[in-house]
Amino acid sequence: MDDPEPITLSPEAEAEEEPLITNLDIFLFSLMAGLLIYWFFSRRTPQDVPQMKPIPSVVTPMRETSFIEKMKKTGRNIVVFYGSQTGTAEAFATQLAKDAQRYGMKGMPADPEEYDMSELPRLTEIPNSLAVFCMATYGEGDPTDNAQDFYDWMQAADDNLEGVNFSVFGLGNKTYEHFNAMGKLVDKKLVELGAKRVFDLGLGDDDSNLEEDFVSWKELFWPAVCEFFGVEATGEDCCVRQFELVNHSDINMNQVFTGEMSRLRSYQTQRPPFDSKNPFLATVTANRKLNKGGVRHLMHLELDISASKLRYDAGDHVAVYPTNDVALVNRLGELLAVDLNTVISLNNLDEESNKKHPFPCPSSYRTALTHYLDITSPPRTNVLYELAQYASDPRDQDMMRKMASSSAEGKALYQSWVLAPQRHILAVLEDIHSLRPAVDHLCELLPRLQARYYSIASSAKIHPTSVHICAVLVEYATSTGRTNMGVATTWLKNMVPTGNGHPASVPLYVRKSQFRLPFKASTPVVMIGPGTGIAPFMGFLQERAWQKEQGKEVGETVLYYGCRYRNEDFLYQEELEEFERLGVLTQLNVAFSRDQEHKIYVQDLMKENKEHLWKLIHSQNAHLYVCGDARNMARDVQSAFHQAAEEVGGLSHTQAIDYFKRLMTKGRYSQDVWS
Ligand code: NAP
Repeated sequence: MDDPEPITLSPEAEAEEEPLITNLDIFLFSLMAGLLIYWFFSRRTPQDVPQMKPIPSVVTPMRETSFIEKMKKTGRNIVVFYGSQTGTAEAFATQLAKDAQRYGMKGMPADPEEYDMSELPRLTEIPNSLAVFCMATYGEGDPTDNAQDFYDWMQAADDNLEGVNFSVFGLGNKTYEHFNAMGKLVDKKLVELGAKRVFDLGLGDDDSNLEEDFVSWKELFWPAVCEFFGVEATGEDCCVRQFELVNHSDINMNQVFTGEMSRLRSYQTQRPPFDSKNPFLATVTANRKLNKGGVRHLMHLELDISASKLRYDAGDHVAVYPTNDVALVNRLGELLAVDLNTVISLNNLDEESNKKHPFPCPSSYRTALTHYLDITSPPRTNVLYELAQYASDPRDQDMMRKMASSSAEGKALYQSWVLAPQRHILAVLEDIHSLRPAVDHLCELLPRLQARYYSIASSAKIHPTSVHICAVLVEYATSTGRTNMGVATTWLKNMVPTGNGHPASVPLYVRKSQFRLPFKASTPVVMIGPGTGIAPFMGFLQERAWQKEQGKEVGETVLYYGCRYRNEDFLYQEELEEFERLGVLTQLNVAFSRDQEHKIYVQDLMKENKEHLWKLIHSQNAHLYVCGDARNMARDVQSAFHQAAEEVGGLSHTQAIDYFKRLMTKGRYSQDVWS
């Protein structure tokens, strides 16, 4: 409320009449008011007085950045570093650290981003010590975000690692060009620096069965470690809890997480900068179905980032944090007979650990199962192993433990019972009737729900305040008769602009990529993106149109797009034809795969145009871009390029392969592919 106007009197008026309020009155009035205020506040109990409480995750305790000191302090001799993007490498590292106690050793998982990795030579200060590295390779041979600094350190390192014992397990995918580049690099570099490899490099392949590769590697890794250090298995079981359950029966709900990634109430009071730990809540301003027919649902979404200060370039990715389907969460609650609104914390029993909770706590089971935990991926073998104790039927226990074993029979059973029918945790609980685990233990074991990345389908030059997404709803029938739905696309499909004051909103952040238009607009570009692989090229085309509008000389712009039927799923048909009409797209090639008896794919059209393609590549320094399916399409397209080089350029097959490899190294052949 505004202060009242002060009462002022002119000197004349003062002289003429007795003032209404004297100075003494004002003094006495102020004194009384002061006393009243004092009395009012002093009679309130301390609980009533509003306290300035620190927001839990904003005030972070000082972290130990020396893993050596931490190992010494806590009596550890094994450290398992992980380079993890989606949480799998972290889960493997945690498992290995846990396994260590079976062999009378003590391990700790460690995020290289949190520690000073230049301390590696000091590992010799700890007797019988070992450093294990679970290193995932991201995209086209890159380190994961959390291993970037370690990667940079390694590139320059010339330390002497003599006396340091190590072993590496790499997590990669054979459909990508540089399979397991990070695992191989760490293994090679550590040997070069003089470290001792205790067990052979493991190369996990996510294209076949990463889990199985890890279990097989681990089964040989531990005996090798035992032999190296002269120890034996103690027979101690590894099923010890890492977190303890605390029930909060009487808690102020303002202190309970409701889906935020790190800071409590960060979705109510949004503060930049926005990143993976502090996503921006973007309002969905458009969500339309792109396909005109067919049973699938292909969609285009526009997300408003105007209040975020987020910047992006065409070719970047937008990461979104989805939430699980409410029906799945409720069914889990039902099967486990739990009140999902119970508020809990899972606190790390190891007080020295940097990871205090497996997900933001305190939180209700509902929030944890909706926002933080992955309930739709097939559970890993270690999860089955640990859950087996909750099966009341010993036959179910046996089956679950067998699936987690490294025997050929166990692996085959895991493959046929879990992976092939894509049984998620709910399906496991539905099909193993005697299995009813403690919900808090299940919450400890399930992996974190990960952000999903989409190639941004817009250019900030035209749309500075929004990012666009092009995606297809993932939905498939499994052999158990269930229909599995993709977490993120199901959630995105339901994100419709409401206009009722409760906007549909998506927590997001932008991830920079290397998928970039050439620096000079006059450089020709060839883009190949069938299906939703068209996404980043919508951004590229908008950018080229903008450059043209600015009066810049824009080089040839060629697109190879593919879809099933002209009348069904020709995505962005109107926009693409308009770009062609404006001369932004100098060539629009569309392969309709199912409009005739035989399949026609993008690479078939490329082969028809091989002379022109080769001229663009070889004589005009065109930049080449491929987006979409990694497994088949990206390879077939590469072969089509090789063929053009051989048949038009006169190169041998080996020369053609080398030629395009060089283009990749030079950044003239970029791929944004997904498997
Ligand atoms: P889709 O509609 O199933 O396929 C698009 C076209 O590609 C169809 O005509 C299909 O033909 C054809 N095709 C199949 N095999 C091919 C091959 N070996 N070479 C060339 N063309 C082939 O595709 P979609 O559902 O959109 O998915 C495409 C891929 O793009 C997915 O892997 C997706 O993950 C990925 N992606 C998505 C984004 C995004 O941001 N949304 C970004 C990058 C990549 P037939 O089916 O008739 O055989």
